[in-house]
Amino acid sequence: MDIVKKLLLKYSKVTTVKLSANITPYYHIVADENVPHIQHLYSYKNINQFEEDLKYLHEHYQIITTDEIADEFHLKHQKKCILSFDDGLVENYTIILPLLEKYKIKAVFFINPSFVDNKFFLNKHLKSILIEELLKIPHNHIVWNKIKFSKSEDLKNQVLKYELSNNQIFDLFDVIKFDFKEYLQERPIYMNKNQIQELIDKGHFIGGHTMTHPYLNNLNEDEQFAEITDSLLWIKQHFKVDYNLFSFPYSDSYASKNLIKRLENWDKNMIIFGNSSYKKDVSKNIVQRFSAEKPIVPLKNIISTELIYMYYIKLVGKFKVKRK
Ligand SMILES: [Zn+2]
Repeated sequence: MDIVKKLLLKYSKVTTVKLSANITPYYHIVADENVPHIQHLYSYKNINQFEEDLKYLHEHYQIITTDEIADEFHLKHQKKCILSFDDGLVENYTIILPLLEKYKIKAVFFINPSFVDNKFFLNKHLKSILIEELLKIPHNHIVWNKIKFSKSEDLKNQVLKYELSNNQIFDLFDVIKFDFKEYLQERPIYMNKNQIQELIDKGHFIGGHTMTHPYLNNLNEDEQFAEITDSLLWIKQHFKVDYNLFSFPYSDSYASKNLIKRLENWDKNMIIFGNSSYKKDVSKNIVQRFSAEKPIVPLKNIISTELIYMYYIKLVGKFKVKRK
């Protein structure tokens, strides 16, 4: 995180910004317990902390649905909120959905079709499980020799940094006799189709987040376009929705002006979600969001931090998103 934002966040309890700005918070997961496939990647809010955020939203903002999103939604001053969740984790259904129902809040859930039904997995999620299991057996020499880790360096950092394919991770699971199938049976990582259908039936929205959650900078523009539009077509095919909502995996910063143009030509009503916070983008169809998940700070404080930070980046000339 930018050092200026960090400082602002530190003082966010004393700076109350009374603004009517629209807000676009997003999360991935909410859970009270340690979730092995997430806990070595990022921190997340517990149920109480998330419920405080929802209460704050419920009291101060009009939560809208995506058909009400106007041009440059995130830069408008209407005290409206669009809430979203990325990656299609099962807790979206088991924990988040009942809380949204309690506060009568509708949200957008961005999913990766390849992960639905737990048939394919995000590499980082498997790495987090691997770290969790290796920490239990820190002196397993077979594993250490196999992946050639240095014993002087932190195990977690090495696993995260080291390139390990999903198949290599499955092999290591076998070496340490970790039964991944059993793990999945007890704790599925992603939502299945029935759970997603229930979200739709309860009035929530489903969007694409690419097929396989790749680093877009590793793909050429045609591959990027296919990853995105295939995920949207898959959703249409399985859930019969009549809209196209998409959020960029990892970051929107690698998306070129031309890619955005191609997506808009593909569907002029498509709404594209980024995660660059309050910035002016190259298209009015892009909604920039901010994370309300990490660091673990009440939503109220995150909002004031993001808004003050926007004034700062305006001052230093970084308000406009630059796209190649
Ligand atoms: Zn994601």
